Amino acid sequence: MYANMKHSFSFLKKAVCLIAAIIFVSASFAQQKANSNEPKAKYVFLFIGDGMGLAHVSLAEAWLSQKDGKLSFTHLGFTQFPVMGVATTYSASNIITCSSAAATALASGYKANNGTVGIYPDSIPLTQITYKLKELGYKIGIMTSVTIDHATPACFYAHNRKRKNYFEIAMELPESGFDFFGGGGFEGSRNKEIKDAADKIYGKVADKGYTVALGVADYKAKKNGAGKMLLLQDGKKRRDSALHPIIGRKDGELTLAQVVESAIDFLYEPDGKGFFIMAEGGQIDWEAHSNNAAGVITETIDFDKAIAVAYEFYKQHPDETLIVVTADHETGGLGLGRERGYTYDLTVFTDAIKGNKSDEKNVQNYMSRDVVDTLNKKARIGWTTKGHTGIPVPVFAVGTGSRMFAGMIDNTDIPKNIMKAMDATPIYTDHYYKRKAIFDKERPIGPNDIVFLGNSLTEGGNWASYYPEVEAKLAKKGGAIRNRGIVGDTFGGIDARLDQILPGHPKTIFFLTGANDVSHNLTADSIANGIIKVVRRIKRESPGTKIYLQSLLPINESFKRYRLLNGKTAMFSEINAKLEKMAKEEKVTFINIYPLFLTNGPADLSLPADQQVLNPNITRDGLHVTKDGYKIWSEAIRKYVK
Ligand SMILES: [Zn+2]
Repeated sequence: MYANMKHSFSFLKKAVCLIAAIIFVSASFAQQKANSNEPKAKYVFLFIGDGMGLAHVSLAEAWLSQKDGKLSFTHLGFTQFPVMGVATTYSASNIITCSSAAATALASGYKANNGTVGIYPDSIPLTQITYKLKELGYKIGIMTSVTIDHATPACFYAHNRKRKNYFEIAMELPESGFDFFGGGGFEGSRNKEIKDAADKIYGKVADKGYTVALGVADYKAKKNGAGKMLLLQDGKKRRDSALHPIIGRKDGELTLAQVVESAIDFLYEPDGKGFFIMAEGGQIDWEAHSNNAAGVITETIDFDKAIAVAYEFYKQHPDETLIVVTADHETGGLGLGRERGYTYDLTVFTDAIKGNKSDEKNVQNYMSRDVVDTLNKKARIGWTTKGHTGIPVPVFAVGTGSRMFAGMIDNTDIPKNIMKAMDATPIYTDHYYKRKAIFDKERPIGPNDIVFLGNSLTEGGNWASYYPEVEAKLAKKGGAIRNRGIVGDTFGGIDARLDQILPGHPKTIFFLTGANDVSHNLTADSIANGIIKVVRRIKRESPGTKIYLQSLLPINESFKRYRLLNGKTAMFSEINAKLEKMAKEEKVTFINIYPLFLTNGPADLSLPADQQVLNPNITRDGLHVTKDGYKIWSEAIRKYVK
């Protein structure tokens, strides 16, 4: 129990009861958007206790109680958070997840295959929320009590088909540009097959502007003026190992709580945008794999101490902070109770937990297989496996947006809800990744291709069929008209997939996007700027490509199909006006097709902007156009398609 918590939560607890009642009638509660009146989370902590099921938490709490001779639970701090939920953890490939598939889900909102890091099952790299938040100006911190290229932290910055490719994963860390990393160093630096693996990794870390601090004192000495920080353990020998397990840890060795404290110190700026911190208690899992209850107890208590540091920060910034504590999966199939008899006795672990720290032999003895098995039997606690199980894991949350984590949710909801709590742009859809995977399998874009780039409006067009002569002419040179539209895409999503297009230096790009950005509540200025940013990147990376920037089409709200576009009709002409002006400055051809889609054509331009609507005869939903609409469109741009 953290100091003062009970008192400050009395109000919140009432609110939670009310919320629980709401959940009862609304199963889809977790999917809903945060109350728009609620303040946005500016500082977010995601704590992942690796392998930490509810039984592991209970084991620690019951031991704290039993060691004092009490028959109850002495609560840890985070279990007293006002919101509690349960998350399912299955992966894309297995009903029982591994750590990397689960961490990918927690980092990206997408299920991945067991064994993979940060990639969609079709091998397309996912954009983790850390990258999205970094793009939005948040500071990013990633830390763990194990090595920093291990599965859980890796999934927040890396993309790899194999979680064991530690060297490759380590080399991706400095590429991320994230602001703070901490904990154990690089597993990959010990790779014997790679010549000078450690030098290569640390060389890149330095090249990319990271300051390496060894221990807290060194961090304090180096933090001023450091752009980005990597905080590891003191002593070169231990630098690339996990932090010392709690059993046998000596005073002065780096702890996860110290790493979290340093991260907050490094990332917090009073007038900044905010930060996202992921901190993993990685050794709860390792101890559970060994079925070592004493280790699970100590690692869970230590994890709670790291969370307590974040909770202190929360108390100073209660309206702007969100703390979420969960696990990636359960490890060991731990049960409190074994065979018959309605009791268990955890005091048998007390000697192991309090073991003589100066006596390494004593410590090793308590970790040995025989002793572990004997103590488990004596304590009457059971384990079903030395691997993971498929049982859902607990979620504890406090702070702004925390109520979204109540009830039964899926692990993929956690990053989505974090983004909602921060009011950050939603991450990409399944369809986006599927289309990207299809594009990846097709012939790469080449210099004789004409590319139609955009969102659903572009995806819905059968562009090659509108211009058969052009298609035939391109075919002779090995080119074609290529559809690169994706339903739901935004300027950000398009920017993130330009690497599938620009390296081939296509002949021409017809570009149109914006409607989804409008539904994401951005201003006309920021949408126009975002679109022009894409245009500038095309110019820069493929200077020979002819760019046609097409205007947004009008919408028709009377169809009542797109709630997020309510009241936004006028914005479409407003954005177009900005685009026209900016396109001129960029010396890019702007094609204004907007007037052609109005109910009475260009004549409607004399109406106020909010009455200029998409002709109801060429749309079925007020946003997309029918075959007749595509006819108008394809004719309007025919002279440019050559
Ligand atoms: Zn594990």
